Amino acid sequence: MVVAGVVVMTGVALAQAPQPAPKAAARAGALQTRPERTNFDNTSTYEDVVAFMQAAAKASPKIHLTTFGYTTEGRPLPLAVIGAPAATPEAVRATGKLRVHIQGNIHGGEVEGKESAQILLRELAQGKHADWLQSMVLIIAPIYNADGNERFSLTNRGRQHGPIGGQGQRPNAQGFDLNRDHMKLDSPEARSFARLLTDYDPHVSMDLHTTNGTRHAYHLTYSPPLNPATDPAILDFLRNEWLPAVTKTVKSKYGWDYYYYSNLTGQSNTPGARDERAWRSFDHRPRFNNNYVGLRNRIAILSEAYAYSTFQERITATSRFIAEVVSYAHKHAARIKQITEAADSRKIVGTQVSLRADMFRAPELIEVLLGEVTTEKHPVDGHAMEKRVDVRKPERVADYSQFKATETERVPSTYYLPPALAVALERLSAHGVRMTALTAPETVQVEEFQIAGSEAAEREFQGHRERTLTGKWVAAERQLPAGTLRVDMTQPLARLAFYLIEPRSDDGLVDWNLLDDAIGISKVYPIVRARR
Ligand SMILES: [Zn+2]
Repeated sequence: MVVAGVVVMTGVALAQAPQPAPKAAARAGALQTRPERTNFDNTSTYEDVVAFMQAAAKASPKIHLTTFGYTTEGRPLPLAVIGAPAATPEAVRATGKLRVHIQGNIHGGEVEGKESAQILLRELAQGKHADWLQSMVLIIAPIYNADGNERFSLTNRGRQHGPIGGQGQRPNAQGFDLNRDHMKLDSPEARSFARLLTDYDPHVSMDLHTTNGTRHAYHLTYSPPLNPATDPAILDFLRNEWLPAVTKTVKSKYGWDYYYYSNLTGQSNTPGARDERAWRSFDHRPRFNNNYVGLRNRIAILSEAYAYSTFQERITATSRFIAEVVSYAHKHAARIKQITEAADSRKIVGTQVSLRADMFRAPELIEVLLGEVTTEKHPVDGHAMEKRVDVRKPERVADYSQFKATETERVPSTYYLPPALAVALERLSAHGVRMTALTAPETVQVEEFQIAGSEAAEREFQGHRERTLTGKWVAAERQLPAGTLRVDMTQPLARLAFYLIEPRSDDGLVDWNLLDDAIGISKVYPIVRARR
């Protein structure tokens, strides 16, 4: 269907009746992605992806299709569910299996995950990985930033090596970077994603990107959640077990090196010097997908294919990573469920949790593999493209790949929000944070945050001038009227609620101006918290 120049696939078109197909596997095997059909010159359009998903579902009764929301331009976000009797969240959760979510294309120009997700769907339609479906439901969303995907240009990805037919743009149709929108939820895409996490509640979520940073020798780099407010067992499990195991398997099977995503910075060899040669990670804030998912007590794995490998090799690198991550999930399904359930029930009330953080220098140097590239001309417009050369240049550098708190706060048992804070309440609901209204007035011993300073950033970022409050919590007594919203901090999303509500949070409601009207020139923060 074409509406005002926009291709719109209806939810009805995506849904389909399961039909037993006699030659299903053969039919699925004949399916080709757009890159495969074009000698890797082109990446898939939205229409290509939807058609591929429909064909895969037609070939296999195991694949159920649905949508999980909409883009800014109204494109339904396609979702494939495999390993459950139907595609609904209820049917998926009722299986009791481990739920693994795989998402491509959050950055519309970083297209390899979108292609690998389709390849995985084909393999599942062919009956491959049948053992996985014993323990898991796979929830596959190949094309998250669908609007960005459709804005093709030959030069959207700088000096990246193809696809020579170009690729989409990084931001969505509103001009927002969707990988900075997970806390403020300014885009329908980020809201759809938050709802997917609430409804399907995947234990594991993979977010697939492509990096054009440091010229290193890795075929792929990855990251666990980076925020120190994340449940520590999730971070330990990823850093000490899961990611090292996958890295080792890929190396032994294919001879390829995978490692933690970072970029090499600095010139100096003096330990601790400001410009020390170091492998520096990106950011701990939950506006980023991996950090957001982690703050929700779920396992997040960020994947970054390497822009200077060929397009085909980038897809292969991403597919291999997905396969090994999912295979590990299959073997450790019970343990992963146990880790996320323990995180949900862990009591954080009364503990100190990070609300601002910075990367720190690990005591040991690490060896990283740097690489080389050669320059080629794009065959159509002649712009310079770089291509990976197969060399590995090891260098020992400082390790700044982890973050620690620079400020913590005590987690209270309850926050109390006035019903007049409509914007803030709406955002908390969109995240899935549970609130209950007081049915009668209550006198409560609370702490109120006395504001000493309120400053908006000079530079606009993602449509906002991020705000920082200074001040302190002091004891007070409040008469709270009926209708006041209580946020009980024993709920599973307590870490996320804490990060959204605390006034000093570096990625909360205050930061994104969502309480600007309420704060105004007030000397007291409008949300109070229980004294213990
Ligand atoms: Zn990206």
